[in-house]
Amino acid sequence: MRLSFATIFYGFLLSYVIAKEAPADKSLSKAKSMFACRMIVHHTITQCPPGPDHHDCICNDPDAVTTFVACYAFYQKNATEAVEFFSHYCSEFADTTVSMNNVTSAYANYTTTGHFIIDGNQVNFTNIRFNDTNPDYAHALEHSINQFLHNWTDTLYYGNAVLGYWGLVMVIGALVNWLPLMFPQYCKPTGPFANWCRRNIILPATIGKKRMQNYKIWYIIEFYMPSRFESIILLGFCVVVTIILTINMCYSQSDSLIFTDYQAHLRYLANRTGIISTMMLPLVILFAGRNNILQYVTRWNHSVFICFHRYIARMMFIFVLIHGISFAIALGPDYHALMRSPFMIWGTVATVCGGIMIFQGLLYFRRRWYEMFLAIHILMAALFIAGTWRHVVTLGYVWYVYAATGVWVLDRIIRIVRIIAFGFPESDVTLMSNETLKVVIEKPKYWQPTPGGHVFIHFLRPSCFWQSHPFTCASAPGSDDHIVLYCKIKGGVTHGLYQYLMTMPEKTAKIRVGVEGPYGETSGARTSETAVFMAGGNGIPGMYSEAVDLAINSSFESRRIVKLYWVIREYRSLHWFFEELQSLRCLGVETTVFVTQPDNEQDTDDLKARISTIQALKHQELLEKKDATTEFTLEEDYNDFKNKIAFQLSHVNFIEGRPNINQLVQNEIEMANKSVAFVTCGHPAMVDDIRHEVVKSLDKTDGKRVDFYEQLLSWA
Ligand SMILES: Cc1cc2nc3c(=O)[nH]c(=O)nc-3n(C[C@H](O)[C@H](O)[C@H](O)COP(=O)(O)OP(=O)(O)OC[C@H]3O[C@@H](n4cnc5c(N)ncnc54)[C@H](O)[C@@H]3O)c2cc1C
Repeated sequence: MRLSFATIFYGFLLSYVIAKEAPADKSLSKAKSMFACRMIVHHTITQCPPGPDHHDCICNDPDAVTTFVACYAFYQKNATEAVEFFSHYCSEFADTTVSMNNVTSAYANYTTTGHFIIDGNQVNFTNIRFNDTNPDYAHALEHSINQFLHNWTDTLYYGNAVLGYWGLVMVIGALVNWLPLMFPQYCKPTGPFANWCRRNIILPATIGKKRMQNYKIWYIIEFYMPSRFESIILLGFCVVVTIILTINMCYSQSDSLIFTDYQAHLRYLANRTGIISTMMLPLVILFAGRNNILQYVTRWNHSVFICFHRYIARMMFIFVLIHGISFAIALGPDYHALMRSPFMIWGTVATVCGGIMIFQGLLYFRRRWYEMFLAIHILMAALFIAGTWRHVVTLGYVWYVYAATGVWVLDRIIRIVRIIAFGFPESDVTLMSNETLKVVIEKPKYWQPTPGGHVFIHFLRPSCFWQSHPFTCASAPGSDDHIVLYCKIKGGVTHGLYQYLMTMPEKTAKIRVGVEGPYGETSGARTSETAVFMAGGNGIPGMYSEAVDLAINSSFESRRIVKLYWVIREYRSLHWFFEELQSLRCLGVETTVFVTQPDNEQDTDDLKARISTIQALKHQELLEKKDATTEFTLEEDYNDFKNKIAFQLSHVNFIEGRPNINQLVQNEIEMANKSVAFVTCGHPAMVDDIRHEVVKSLDKTDGKRVDFYEQLLSWA
């Protein structure tokens, strides 16, 4: 009985007072008074016992009206407000129109003649005035209610502690990433302590080498391990939430008037986890967005924020689970009745959707069925927000749901605006070397690609127009009006395009595209004297555009050395990046290409044709100048073909075999003058190797500043 009594009253009071009345302090005092006075009425007026059938008795029974109004005025010290509040309350919840005359005369009756004592269950209005009584019961109640309601409102501060923690993390991120860029001469220390911090905290993978490569346990548990710095941030987050879940959760002795110790704890826990999970929602949505302003503030990329998004979302879901379970236990026999109410149904919908998101968000699913994952994730997220909204709209804290919705809608609007602003140009899509799509797109005049940045592209074909895929973009060589993307053929949209282009003449077609971007940031390599860009496979466009940008924008006095390493499997990959490699000839970028399977002749026809065409043109030129003596013949020998490549790209150093990353990093550090930056994008294993070698080298840098930037972003 106690519980159902408490359930009903807390439900009413909290929904009415806290949700509708702001600010919280004012409503809290009203709620306290309201609840205490109702408890007193039900405790003292025999004809109004506690229970669901009598909650409107307070508005209908004259004794109850008098007692309630008197008590409320006693707490509120404001008779006028008491009268108004009571009248309003009765019309809203008891469906009873209490005339102001009734209330005023009840209050007047009390102030002039009304006296009462509590004698068992009997009320005697003749002896003692309310404020003359020894109001132990009322004060004990107030104390208990205080505990309950303060837990409710204090949770606001605890929730703010969580938000504050992430605010602090953002400030640290901004300082760590912006200061060295803005004041490289002061903020890029090379001393032992700075190197120790970078070697042990900021740069390494959390454990061992693996950061971009995923871990796999059993069949289905695949995951990325955050970097050590990210792990420390996430550990701090866990500490903060542990603290706020444990402090000030004590049981007030007078709680026994309403709850048992066990039920009180369950209630406090349920309320605290429920509120704080709601407060985490805007963070979860903000961090997942592409247009998250914090990316610009901190210079952390989308991939870092997606990592935070995942962990906060998981924590939020754990909170939601604790909230649901503890509340269900605390409700006891009232559970079934309350579960029928819409706010509980929507709360349950949100919880189930959250659970589905956590499960289907596993890397195993993202990897294999990204589009399916994304569609379900968006649908479930929308239902989660709708469910939370309906669940809390009468309980308070709905502003956090508004904020989350606002952030999401704003991100979507910006995305749409960016796509529309780019226009929907027709692009030239060509299948090259049977492994890569070259997509050349005319861009608007105002639109500039970010070196090392990426765009999301929609290929506007019936089979895939809704999909939006990220690809690094670079300016097309020899054209300021075009950008170019190089998309490796995989199993989804790129495979669909591959099949389509195989049926087209010259394996090329015009396809209308929607382009959203640019996103991403240029690395901080521009503050180092030597910049070493290391790309693997299709990671080359970003490294190339950063290297070119740096080479063009470095003054002669800066004596900057720009190096580009590209690791490819077969020679055929040179075909799709040939023009870019040629364009490096005059830029002074020291370029080396490693070919790890140099004898694989598969799909080299396109490259051979290109080499022969160039050769034939050169021959023609020589003939015209009368310098050539022999006829031009197409060479069939593969080694000769490789020699011709080396000849035509004579400014590029070709090395057959895998690079020795350890040696390469050591050599670059040794050769560097004062500072060297390694920037990398490519196969995850290669990126992890380079990071590992750079980190290892940090205790023997000989006073040189060594930086590492990974431009490989991954969230799937
Ligand atoms: C910032 C960024 C820049 C990239 N730049 C390039 C580039 O320049 N050249 C290049 O070849 N590849 C690049 N990629 C990878 C490229 O996005 C995927 O290869 C492409 O989306 C695969 O499309 P699909 O449908 O053919 O592949 P699927 O076979 O469906 O998927 C293959 C893999 O690609 C990933 N993936 C699929 N869809 C997405 C998506 N919408 N967002 C993120 N990852 C996805 C998943 O890990 C999946 O396992 C980049 C990825 C990112 C995150």
